[in-house]
Amino acid sequence: MAEGKRGATRRGRKRRVAHAGDAPFWKRKTLKEMSQTEWESLCDGCGKCCLLKLEDWESGEVSYTDVACRGLDHTSCQCRFYTTRKQEVPDCIVLKPAMVARFSWLPRTCAYRLISEGKDLAWWHPLVSGDPESVHEAGISVRGRIQSETDVDEDGLGDHIVTWPE
Ligand code: SF4
Ligand code: SF4
Repeated sequence: MAEGKRGATRRGRKRRVAHAGDAPFWKRKTLKEMSQTEWESLCDGCGKCCLLKLEDWESGEVSYTDVACRGLDHTSCQCRFYTTRKQEVPDCIVLKPAMVARFSWLPRTCAYRLISEGKDLAWWHPLVSGDPESVHEAGISVRGRIQSETDVDEDGLGDHIVTWPE
């Protein structure tokens, strides 16, 4: 009796067995294996990497400020001139897979850093949640807590150091 019941129940609740090919691309591929579209979609849109940073000359330690690059849209947290960003802001760092060894300066929540360290994406990442707003709703993005470099005296940047991007 137990056997019959078990068999019937299983037929009614058949579940698909996951295969390696079912895993999302960021779990199957290295950064270098990703297509351009996959690579671009990996960015969660937090805007943290577009904050101005200060580097300690002696220790090399990088500190984030709450001052954003003039190209960052404070609401969408997207670059206003993404396709021409290198021309508009010459010191903008365009991330490439080959730079993986230098990703340690990126915030710990950054998808590129997470994947390069063998970690998974969090629930709020748009690729996981399916909602581009989730990165903002989870309080991960810079929305609502930054000011533009155009409004801040460069000599006073040290007064704007913050720890929350980490
Ligand atoms: S920190 Fe990483 S995930 Fe966030 S905007 Fe920059 S590149 Fe994208
Ligand atoms: S130019 Fe755009 S992508 Fe580069 S740091 Fe500024 S806002 Fe960010």
